[in-house]
Amino acid sequence: EMQIKRNVLLNPGPATTTDSVKLAQVVTDICPREKEFGDLMEYCATEITKFVGDPKEYATVLFGGSGTATVEAILSSVVPENGRILIIDNGAYGKRMCQITKIYKLDTVVFESSSIEPIDLKALEEVIKGEKGLTHLAMIHHETTTGLLNDISAVGKLCANYDISFIVDSMSGFAAIPVDMKTMNIDYLAASSNKNIQGMAGIGFAICNKKALLATESIPMRNLYLNLYAQYAYFEKTHQTRFTPPVQTFYALKQAIIETKEETIVKRYDRYAKSWETLLSGIEEMGLEYLIDREHHSKIITSIIEPKNDKYDFDEMHDYFFERGFTIYPGKVNNYDTFRISNIGQIDYKDMEDFLKVLKEYLVQIGFLED
Ligand SMILES: *Cc1c(COP(=O)(O)O)cnc(C)c1O
Repeated sequence: EMQIKRNVLLNPGPATTTDSVKLAQVVTDICPREKEFGDLMEYCATEITKFVGDPKEYATVLFGGSGTATVEAILSSVVPENGRILIIDNGAYGKRMCQITKIYKLDTVVFESSSIEPIDLKALEEVIKGEKGLTHLAMIHHETTTGLLNDISAVGKLCANYDISFIVDSMSGFAAIPVDMKTMNIDYLAASSNKNIQGMAGIGFAICNKKALLATESIPMRNLYLNLYAQYAYFEKTHQTRFTPPVQTFYALKQAIIETKEETIVKRYDRYAKSWETLLSGIEEMGLEYLIDREHHSKIITSIIEPKNDKYDFDEMHDYFFERGFTIYPGKVNNYDTFRISNIGQIDYKDMEDFLKVLKEYLVQIGFLED
């Protein structure tokens, strides 16, 4: 049997994968226009849809590309020429959405919200009421910048009340934090192959309300590669993607889907939550603080305030961990000095205990903690 060295990835994706997912990529060469490969993509699309909705009403559109490609596909494809979109910005990923709609010159209203406190729903409703002609609202489910979990159910209700089409980037929530597109009133949900689904990087999915998607056919295309309707219609007709898909990544994705179904999303989130609880009690014990309070926390990534100590240096700490098989991640919030620890992928609380031992070792070495 092949031995693959195990690295524990504590960055927020690509995540640690099982060996069975890694090895699923080693397959006989195949042309992606063969029926067998079309069936594989169809399987992936249908199963992804089933995690969040009924395939009769919802469909998954697949793109070769990272998660951002899918967010760009949705935003550039679904807002009509006379449409108007509100974007909730409470972190780096909300900002990225604003960057995308700016590039496409879409009429955009930005609702800025704290990066560490929950969204003020009353203030949001006031803006929705005050702004004329809003057709779409886009937001992040779990802001990976900080670990803040946004209340998409509440915003979905607002969208239903004001007849606004709702777009959610659930890149770092999908396949761990349960989503039901219908009850949450979500028309478009973006996710990717390398986070909680525990596959390889390279495939983005847009899960779409079919009725809403079909109505976008008449919107003039703003790009070629990322057009959502064109990608959907071509696959429906031919069982192929318009352009070459990442073939081997799809085999890994199929295996990752099978393993997700075996574990179930609910139990996966339980496993992640246990790792997170272990992490939080460990860092609290060492006197470290974190940004987001437990009540609004995703339990998926934790922004930890950097230790106040002259010898502390993130890059040095990163290398110290890396030599010991752990990959850690820098912070991303402007006003706070943090580093981030994610607990997604094929790891559990025991890995987190091992991580905490190394963290303690490092903190003793720089003199932040006593031995
Ligand atoms: C990871 C992530 C993305 C996509 O990032 P890529 O590097 O393009 O895969 C988008 N939004 C959120 C919230 C994310 O966590």
